[in-house]
Amino acid sequence: MIEEMAMPLFKVAIIGAGPAGYFAAQALQNLQNDEHSFAIDMIERLPTPWGLVRSGVAPDHPKIKTVAKVFEKIAADPNFRLFANVEIGAEITVAQLTEKYDAVIIATGSSLGKKLGIPGEDLFGSMSAADFVPWYNAHPDFADVDVPLHCDTAVVIGAGNVAMDVARMLALEPNELDSTDTADHAIEAFKKSSVRDVYISARRGPEHAAFTSPELRELPKLEHTNVIMARSDIDAAIVRAGDAPEKDVKSNLDAMLLIADLPRGNHERTMHFLFQHTPKEILGTEHVEGLVYSTPNGDVTIKCGLVITAIGYQAASIEGVPYENGKVVNIDGRVKENMYVVGWAKRGPSGVIGTNKSDAAGVMELLVSDLKGPKGAGDITELITSQKVIDQAAWQRINEAEVAAGEARGKPRVKSVGRQELLKLASL
Ligand code: NAP
Repeated sequence: MIEEMAMPLFKVAIIGAGPAGYFAAQALQNLQNDEHSFAIDMIERLPTPWGLVRSGVAPDHPKIKTVAKVFEKIAADPNFRLFANVEIGAEITVAQLTEKYDAVIIATGSSLGKKLGIPGEDLFGSMSAADFVPWYNAHPDFADVDVPLHCDTAVVIGAGNVAMDVARMLALEPNELDSTDTADHAIEAFKKSSVRDVYISARRGPEHAAFTSPELRELPKLEHTNVIMARSDIDAAIVRAGDAPEKDVKSNLDAMLLIADLPRGNHERTMHFLFQHTPKEILGTEHVEGLVYSTPNGDVTIKCGLVITAIGYQAASIEGVPYENGKVVNIDGRVKENMYVVGWAKRGPSGVIGTNKSDAAGVMELLVSDLKGPKGAGDITELITSQKVIDQAAWQRINEAEVAAGEARGKPRVKSVGRQELLKLASL
């Protein structure tokens, strides 16, 4: 007689509903076979999932956000549950989760902006992209960030894609944001903004910039913004880069030449690129009044009322998880017994959204190789006391309501900002 064996079901908790968390879930789903299947519980502090796809990706880059369709497909699996609006740390601890689950995956990203460590950095008007980006993207915790836009000049520090997003958002003609899912409060503020000149500064030369070339190639297409890059800066960088520059460097320098050769436009708004400008001091008494750079030609001061740093991120810590240098301490994604880490919390803030797919797949293979027998020790439902958990069905109600509100206004969605408002849309 052939006896039917039940397929062993392992319970996995993923903390953080951003790209790294979803790709970890997807990798586990793909690794299911006769020896192991997975019940995945994804836990998220905010009332909404999708992490940086909702609160990081620039609103004028809607194509990048289409990856959310993949996330929703992963979430549609009957063995997947969402527990949003549930914070791990205080009420429910990581230790409780590791006791119950066969594996716990930290996928909480890096949410804190790195500091420059120069005088004046704490003045009003000096802020991190870690505060500015979630403000324009309708993150509930950043709705009240006070962004001084009454000045004519803003400076963005850093030569990566976040700095580029920030500079573009400041320098776009705000009517261009009407058809995007930028937070209503931010569109209103950009429409009242006096900022007309936005400087974006790199401490090294163009050959070392961390921008990627698709982002650079977008700049000549801006319809209402002048973009200025000095041809002499790019020529000198080409010489320094030598005869056989790496492919990415060559591609960036080619894209920069196109920008440097643009005929000077006469739009109201201008983005200026500065290279070899190292921030030295932010000037001001009560608020930002200027920024001093050291350059190969001596100190240079730019008068400005807003300075935004986009120089990298660090992970915010959770009790019970070891951290070092802004990341979770790990070896190839293994943290300690039955605890794993993926995404920016694992490797630091690098790579594009898709990078998390291969990264998570590697870690999930290790996780599966570590599995013994299922614990059968329960799950988060025994720990939750709040009535306000947003599950997949409740999130779908929010999602549909936001998309419907967007349809009426010619946008992909209108994001609700306040937690109460989101809970209302979820019918909780
Ligand atoms: P990033 O690419 O690492 O760039 C950080 C920049 O900050 C670098 O230019 C770095 O210069 C500079 N920097 C660091 N410390 C500094 C200091 N003390 N003073 C002055 N400059 C300093 O980081 P990111 O822009 O935050 O982006 C994070 C990741 O997300 C990247 O992989 C990025 O490509 C990705 N991303 C992608 C997109 C997209 O695909 N559209 C959009 C946004 C973000 P040095 O090189 O001199 O250190």
